[in-house]
Amino acid sequence: IYILAIESSCDDTSAAVLRNGKVLSNIVATQQIHEQYGGVVPELASRAHQQNIVPVVHQSLASANIDKKQLSAIAFTRGPGLMGSLLVGTSFAKSLSLGLDIPLIEVNHMQAHILAHFIEDAEGTVPTFPFLALTISGGHTQIVQVNDYFDMRILGESLDDAVGEAFDKSAKIMGLPYPGGPLIDKYAQLGNPKAFPFPRPKVDGLNFSFSGLKTSILYFLQKEVKSDPDFITHNLNDICASIQHTIIAILMDKLEQAVRQTGIKTIAIGGGVSANSGIRKVLQQMEDKKGWKTHIPKFEYCTDNAAMIGIVGYLKYKNNDFSHQSISAIARYSI
Ligand code: ATP
Ligand code: FE
Repeated sequence: IYILAIESSCDDTSAAVLRNGKVLSNIVATQQIHEQYGGVVPELASRAHQQNIVPVVHQSLASANIDKKQLSAIAFTRGPGLMGSLLVGTSFAKSLSLGLDIPLIEVNHMQAHILAHFIEDAEGTVPTFPFLALTISGGHTQIVQVNDYFDMRILGESLDDAVGEAFDKSAKIMGLPYPGGPLIDKYAQLGNPKAFPFPRPKVDGLNFSFSGLKTSILYFLQKEVKSDPDFITHNLNDICASIQHTIIAILMDKLEQAVRQTGIKTIAIGGGVSANSGIRKVLQQMEDKKGWKTHIPKFEYCTDNAAMIGIVGYLKYKNNDFSHQSISAIARYSI
């Protein structure tokens, strides 16, 4: 079974080809245009997807060494995401499925971030059901109980900013370019995580809140910069390490609570922020410390990519779960 998968929910145009759940190619065109604006500009993202989609799909077929006539089905991201971005991938997938007369399979982007763990060439073993997924990305922060591939329940989520936003907005305050998450990670590795203690939000249950952290970082830096204009440059590593430390502590606190509440000790992380080296390290330590079984995706399957859309497409293909040509993109789409 050959699946062509298309992902265009935000600012990465991606196409992948999978053979029986194994990734043959996974091409990602990242849009540089947003860097100068300090965030994704939806209209520009949509336009860049239109420019990228044909070459990216061609490249994914070529590098998989597959002719489009061999394809069994086309999987695409239906949502959640930016409407203008989703429309490009959705229309392209629909036309191609019509032209090639092969089935169309809609995929939920957040389910895909979780099910990326079932990609055949993923490192280590795949998680066993039931497991807890901590999905941490640019638009979402969720703890999900996963009972089966398509039986998922959200136990908690962010009430305001997503964790990726917390990283990116903190970086923006410090004058770092977008997306700042990977940069904070880089500088944090050279700094002292206890240098500047930031307050942690008090949120009931398994929900999260990150907007307060951003504000306290802003006030803290404004105050320090008043007495030392070079405060940020002089302390960049320590500030980044302290921010990252606080974010990880907030995440781990809730995750431990979810483990206590459900008794489930199999943990899988997903989404762009799961590329963070600090989170990966802390999670790994929980295996020895708490007897958890943790699953951490390969870097290329953390941030947005079409391979994760392809694995969901493959699982749905086996269930004969196909979509009709009348299907449309949806910006808000719960798992
Ligand atoms: P969603 O999946 O919720 O729709 P998205 O698709 O925009 O949002 P992803 O591509 O999954 O989000 O993740 C992007 C986010 O991951 C950005 O906020 C980016 O800063 C963050 N990120 C990527 N690498 C790292 C890292 N090493 N450390 C911290 N954050 C990171
Ligand atoms: Fe994503």
